[in-house]
Amino acid sequence: MFQRVACFRNLIQSLSSTSSSTKFGGRFFFASRASSLPQLISQPSEYGRNVDEVDEYADVDWENIGFGVVPTDYMYVMKCSKNENFERGQLNPYGNIEISPAAGVLNYGQGLYEGTKAHRTEDGRLLLFRPDQNAIRMRKGAERLCMPAPSINQFVDAVKQIARANKRWTPPAGKGSLYIRPLLMGSGPILGLAPSPEYTFLIFASPVGNYFKEGIAPLKLYVEEEYDRASPGGAGGIKSITNYAPVLKAIAKAKSRGFSDVLYLDSVNKKYLEEVSSCNIFVVKGNFISTPPTAGTILSGVTRKSVIEIARDHGYQVEERAIPVDELIEADEVFCTGTAVGVAPVGSITYKNQRMEFRIGDDQSTCSRLYSTLVGIQTGIIEDKKGWIIELD
Ligand SMILES: *Cc1c(COP(=O)(O)O)cnc(C)c1O
Repeated sequence: MFQRVACFRNLIQSLSSTSSSTKFGGRFFFASRASSLPQLISQPSEYGRNVDEVDEYADVDWENIGFGVVPTDYMYVMKCSKNENFERGQLNPYGNIEISPAAGVLNYGQGLYEGTKAHRTEDGRLLLFRPDQNAIRMRKGAERLCMPAPSINQFVDAVKQIARANKRWTPPAGKGSLYIRPLLMGSGPILGLAPSPEYTFLIFASPVGNYFKEGIAPLKLYVEEEYDRASPGGAGGIKSITNYAPVLKAIAKAKSRGFSDVLYLDSVNKKYLEEVSSCNIFVVKGNFISTPPTAGTILSGVTRKSVIEIARDHGYQVEERAIPVDELIEADEVFCTGTAVGVAPVGSITYKNQRMEFRIGDDQSTCSRLYSTLVGIQTGIIEDKKGWIIELD
């Protein structure tokens, strides 16, 4: 394997030095933008063999990746009709998709998304973190939105395929991860309000670094009082795409005032903490860690669930309970959890013009200890004793 890699490297180097364009030399063999060279990769399976054999990095500035879309080599696509089950999907070159203007997802928001990551270990292996949990969550969401969903095995298998096929886009250990974005949508045409006649399960991937442009700097949250994120009986508990456009305005308002993101309160009493736009929230006081219960209006994060378990292993008392916003004044630490953000310290929360500040940053903080354990497991530095990691072969 290593010999073959070295051999390919030499080949590329010699091509690069003789070719007038190094970039073209690289692209020709690696097709770094599938969409720019569709004719070269019309046979994904044949090309796929190259991806397995050439264990090389894509042309990315790994020191400066944020959380933007970087087109990779492949996406996964699987379709089925209403009242059927998904059967077989395939890897396609990454690129735009064609969709009916009358698609259920475009007209009525019949769609779900998911998010999970692949990490590269120091010795070059690829690890997935609990993708079965995303599969289960997508199935729950699909049931709520009247969609068929892939089985847990189909979902996990597709995530494995997409990570493997885009391996060279996975950042080196310590530089970030390959963010994997599964989508499930009503892709068939429908005019009257009803479930779509056809469904598409699609996965794309993009290398990512930090979610917030502040990097690992503590978050400044703003408690939103005008806009709600979710309400009882609604879809706040699932990763429905319909939950996200309505919070853009609240996020924009917070960002324009210098905050990192928005913390939402429950829509009934406007009193209890719910969560941040795309991550869950935890409050630390002494040996107690509290987080709001996921009873329909709060997204049940895989990171949340994992951090609760890790915190208990560390000897903390973790409670899932309603947390009045006023209680924040007494908190030692506050942090957020999510696949995209990891475990992110909250430096301050502003509520009704009052700014509350929390302990941050040092290695001994609860947030750092939990973060190190979680990331340690995800990146293979800490042994996984929980069966959370799937290593790609
Ligand atoms: C995705 C998401 C989270 C975090 O879930 P993870 O599974 O930990 O990534 C939290 N809140 C909302 C609203 C989300 O969309």
